[in-house]
Amino acid sequence: MKLTLWTYEGPPHVGAMRVATAMTGLHYVLHAPQGDTYADLLFTMIERRNHRPPVTYTTFQARDLGSDTANLFKTACQNAYERFKPEAMIVGASCTAELIQDDPGGMAETMGLPVPVIALELPSYQRKENFGADETFFQITRALAKPVEKTAHVSCNLIGPTALGFRHRDDITELTGMLADMGIAVNVCAPYGASPSDIARLGAAHFNVLMYPETGEAACRWMERELELPFTKTVPIGVGATRDFMAEVASLTGLTPQIDESRLRLPWYSASVDSTYLTGKRVFLFGDGTHVAAAARIARDEMGFEVVGMGCYNREMARPIRKLAKEYGVEALITDDYLEVEAAIEALAPEMILGTQMERMIGKRLNIPCAVISAPVHVQDYPARYSPQMGIEGANVIFDTWVHPLVMGLEEHLLHMFRDDFEFNDAAGASHHGGHHSTPASETKQPETADAATTGTVIWLDEAERELKKIPFFVRGKARRNTETFAANQGVHEIGIDTLYEAKAHYAR
Ligand code: SF4
Repeated sequence: MKLTLWTYEGPPHVGAMRVATAMTGLHYVLHAPQGDTYADLLFTMIERRNHRPPVTYTTFQARDLGSDTANLFKTACQNAYERFKPEAMIVGASCTAELIQDDPGGMAETMGLPVPVIALELPSYQRKENFGADETFFQITRALAKPVEKTAHVSCNLIGPTALGFRHRDDITELTGMLADMGIAVNVCAPYGASPSDIARLGAAHFNVLMYPETGEAACRWMERELELPFTKTVPIGVGATRDFMAEVASLTGLTPQIDESRLRLPWYSASVDSTYLTGKRVFLFGDGTHVAAAARIARDEMGFEVVGMGCYNREMARPIRKLAKEYGVEALITDDYLEVEAAIEALAPEMILGTQMERMIGKRLNIPCAVISAPVHVQDYPARYSPQMGIEGANVIFDTWVHPLVMGLEEHLLHMFRDDFEFNDAAGASHHGGHHSTPASETKQPETADAATTGTVIWLDEAERELKKIPFFVRGKARRNTETFAANQGVHEIGIDTLYEAKAHYAR
């Protein structure tokens, strides 16, 4: 048992739903208790799809448990086939149904339905949503993809985008355009928009573009082995990664890399003089492994930030994130417990968080600006406007998104100069642009102060407290903590101005 309030990922059958909902002509029969239909809302409300997911639930109730739940499943399967006439079906169990062990796969097999029926084994108590999506897509590919003749011109498949994916819709558009500039057509994009007959012709492509390792890697590995389709290893999020990706595509195809950089604005925007204040901003990164790895490179190499911590919630990506963290000289945080993430952020006191919806909440509580880089996300991150993360336009979108919550350069300068001004004072919060003005940055609410006061180990003298207030609010928390640590190490119990400056000199060394 584990006490849980927020989860970064849903159960694996939600991953299977993301694959089924992304596709056309495929139906999912899910053995699940009454109430599990809540998952429909993820697609109809958060992603704002205009039709129900292609999922039939058996919705058994307590009174059904005494009788024949297996029959309930068979009837649901038969009805779903007759009503929707899909090209193929997937069948599986949710967490509760897993416990009653009805074996949906075995039962569906005995029914003799006239379309392929693919059984899913998703261990709900060990694995999560991303695994569910990856495994489901792998099983569908394994069952339906066949060796076929290659297309006459160079073509590729886009692999990994699903329903409820963070910006998957627009990443597909961006990549399709960029590949077309190089003369490469998209054979099949899957699972997003693909039908079972499209899956059957995956093998006609010359190579696979693995867009999201979390949801497409198992299928890519299988296709590499069985259909001789090599796949790309670089995820084109960020300017450097996009260029590397195009070079990788060129080496796979023998074509000359071509990128239309006339649309690219990130490099100049981040080199332009207004961005000087971004240099060295201390950022903390958290999300799924793929987006965190991409964000780390952009943050350090393209925006000039300092990465002070990084981590991911999906343990499938623990190894690459650990390795990357080492390269960046920071500690990797691999956890799906948001309280641990919150503690790490509090300890590091970054000036900005790049994370998920959860980190937005943490940022709000700690009054640290935050931009969203990865699922899980709320409805506002399925925007109406074109907002990819990948490729050229993705880099432009990322620049705007990350800079937006930060205090603008001029504003930061004014805040410092006129800290007693009625408008630009400390209580006005982090930024007029980040919407923080409703949560004033009260000094007394700072957790560091509470700690020191309650433990009684270090006391701030009035003059030192006044001097501390001269430090801009977004680095004040860090200065306060450093000074307290310094004082404690020196055996000093009262912090005066001298201690404050000694600590400053000490940490500047
Ligand atoms: S079966 Fe699983 S998804 Fe459904 S309510 Fe229970 S724990 Fe949640």
